[in-house]
Amino acid sequence: MKLTVLGRYGTFPAAGGACSGYLLERAGKFVLLDCGNGVMSRLQNYCRLEDLEAVVITHLHDDHAGDLRILKYAIETKRAFGTMDHPLRVFMPREPDELYRGLVYPEAFDMAPIGEDAVLELAGMTFRFAPMRHSIPSFAIAAEADGKRLVYSGDTVPHDGLTAFARDADVLLCEATTAVRGPVPIPHMTAGQTGLTAREARVRRLLLTHLWCEEQAGRCLAEAQAYYPEAEVVEELQTYEI
Ligand SMILES: [Zn+2]
Repeated sequence: MKLTVLGRYGTFPAAGGACSGYLLERAGKFVLLDCGNGVMSRLQNYCRLEDLEAVVITHLHDDHAGDLRILKYAIETKRAFGTMDHPLRVFMPREPDELYRGLVYPEAFDMAPIGEDAVLELAGMTFRFAPMRHSIPSFAIAAEADGKRLVYSGDTVPHDGLTAFARDADVLLCEATTAVRGPVPIPHMTAGQTGLTAREARVRRLLLTHLWCEEQAGRCLAEAQAYYPEAEVVEELQTYEI
């Protein structure tokens, strides 16, 4: 599997950046994990929308799902012009109801809910989910193929469920919203908590993401490395081999 970081910011992007979006590729087939603001523009540098197998959304906050509304315009238009013959498959949590309903566009999206017991086979990869702890229902995603396993935390506070789900992962792509506990009011992880989670889960590689836009990536890295010395901060538009 190849993981390309399309956006690494949480809540809102830094200048020139984008919010959460991660493109997974295996053997020339693509699945997009999260579609925050700024992601759709970057996505098309790597994958035509017609060739995108599916989108999987961890939770319905706009820094993870906001560009779905723009993606919807693109697919509706392509279908009207006859250049795309199918709606895009989109998997996402069913709650909160009002946010889910706001994304129901049958011409553009073939939607299906995800849950703890869901197992999806997409683009030659197997996807599983675990409930996280956030201000709305949110899931971590595990993607497996060719004997490798990537775990992406989505948004959460640290908890045993995340550690268990990430256990022995080849790569843990984990939110590290701030270096230390600060004024961000919603439930997130500090980089130190991310490093500790990676250490306890004995993952083989830790990639920090979902940075608060005014946070210094170097501060996050130093806090995480106190617990997990090989921690890395992801770079936007960089591709990582899983
Ligand atoms: Zn977020």
